[in-house]
Amino acid sequence: MNRIEIAAGRGPHNGGRGVAADEMRRHNLAIVLERLHLQGPISRSELTGMTGLNRSTVADLIAELAVLGLVEEGPGLATSGPGRPSPVVQPRPEGAVALAVELAVDSIAVATVGLGGHVYNRLRVARPRGRFSPQETVYDVAKLAGPLLGSLPGHVFAGVGVAIVGIARRSDGFVHLAPNLGWRNVPLAEMLGDELGHDGAVLVANDADLGALAEHRRGVRPGVANLIYISGEVGIGTGVISDGKPLLGSAGYAGEAGHMLINPNGRRCRCGSVGCWETEAGEAALLRHAGTADNVAGLEGLNAIAERAAAGDAKTLRALSEVGRWLGSGIGNLVNIFNPEIVVLGGMYHRLFPFLEDAINEAVATRALDAPAEMVTVTRSGLESDAALIGASELVFSRVVADPARANRAIVEA
Ligand SMILES: [Zn+2]
Repeated sequence: MNRIEIAAGRGPHNGGRGVAADEMRRHNLAIVLERLHLQGPISRSELTGMTGLNRSTVADLIAELAVLGLVEEGPGLATSGPGRPSPVVQPRPEGAVALAVELAVDSIAVATVGLGGHVYNRLRVARPRGRFSPQETVYDVAKLAGPLLGSLPGHVFAGVGVAIVGIARRSDGFVHLAPNLGWRNVPLAEMLGDELGHDGAVLVANDADLGALAEHRRGVRPGVANLIYISGEVGIGTGVISDGKPLLGSAGYAGEAGHMLINPNGRRCRCGSVGCWETEAGEAALLRHAGTADNVAGLEGLNAIAERAAAGDAKTLRALSEVGRWLGSGIGNLVNIFNPEIVVLGGMYHRLFPFLEDAINEAVATRALDAPAEMVTVTRSGLESDAALIGASELVFSRVVADPARANRAIVEA
């Protein structure tokens, strides 16, 4: 692991401003930085228009963000209008680099992502079967992450975001339960922080919640205020953005729709209950209906199904329709509860979407009430298999954006 030197924050000095003025300035810095982080280069005059702040305030805020190394200003593009073109401001990816980690059942992925969403490097490796223990996992993550961070000397490290296929408490990165990894009560943030040598720099959240965040910020319809992200893996993960904000519940456990009851006469679920959504629309259900042998699970099984579906195999297409119907019934329930504008499908549903789409739409139309059903579009992810990984980086950037002057950052040394 690289040696990291903690860069001095700005400390408590406020240049004589009052507490309320400081709070206002922090708030305005966050607004300006968030715009730039999400939209990329914007002219100073456009920023003024977007934020509703006055011109000199925006100039001051940009100057402060530039001193912090988070943005830079360049000459504006010449326009046909009168006057000098407004300077263009853009985020500096090297000014805040997040290490994003995704802990899935079948794979571990790591990426280095700079402010503004610039992906420097990403790496996904298959997780060896049975290599599931928390200690082995954090060791593997550190081994993968070291060279990625090491290739960015002089860049500013802003923290680690982890997407995990489980239920995690956001306040301290404690994983309460990850049934498909066999984890219970794992202090993941603490363990990974120790392994990486970055105490307090690790944020952890549920993978589907982070997929929803990524879709909201950088997906097929960026900025859409009401969105549900549904990822099919071994289980079903769901994340909800409502009125522009992630719906997390009191500790971050909300949105476990994979375990909502959908078939009271159904099968036992890994969570211990019976008839959960994922028992009818998850990977195992698909493999069961398609008649794939039990020992051909995971990616191999899905590859076989995708190939047979593309070749028009009737049994496989029927299996996909059956799973699509269960999937659509569950989506219909969620549409009734949350009234989303868009439902985005990731994971195996992304890949198999062309074969599931009709059955899903039919079931949604049947299950959901007319008014919310007419408003919703069910589509597949624009981020393919990386939604959770990109969302993990956004978790870190949310912290940088919320308080740019105080966010804990450190220089990466060669
Ligand atoms: Zn369950």
